[in-house]
Order: sequence, then structure tokens, then C-alpha cells
Amino acid sequence: MNELNGWTKSVRKFHNDLKSAMKPYAGERLKTKEIKEIISSTTVLKHDAQFILPSDHCINHTNKGACDCSLHDEAIFEKIERGLYLVRNI
Ligand SMILES: [Zn+2]
Repeated sequence: MNELNGWTKSVRKFHNDLKSAMKPYAGERLKTKEIKEIISSTTVLKHDAQFILPSDHCINHTNKGACDCSLHDEAIFEKIERGLYLVRNI
């Protein structure tokens, strides 16, 4: 397994836990800072909080190393503007 696949796999691993953590906030608009606070207060995610970015899980935004949910219907967030995300109802 190459490094890129390993990274994608770990981003994907965070996806389900992040989805669970964000579920109570569905329909809300949150700043990156607020999302980071939610991640940091989630037991299963807090140790990896630095690796978990809302921009990796967006339906309308992607970047290098993004989760494979990005640009797909299972994406967790919709980017509204820089630093502001809508939690999708998924
Ligand atoms: Zn994802």
C-alpha cells in the first residue's frame, strides 16, 4: 500500500466517527473553529483532531488528500465560505 492510499484510508476512517459527531448539528452553520471544538470534545476523535478537517469532507469542495466522500452525496459538510460550513443532513 502506498502512502497516498494509507492517508486516504485514515481520512476515511475518521469519516464515520466525524459523521456521528456532527449528526446533532445537522442543518447548522458552523465555523471551522467550532467544528474543531466539537472534534476535540469527541472521545474517539480528539487524539487525531489535528488531522480532521471539514474541508476534506465537502460536497462542493475538495483538495489533495480529501476523503472519498468529497464531491459526493455522502459528504458531511457544504462549504458556505472560507471558514464556514453547513453540516449536511445525512
Ligand atoms: Zn468524508
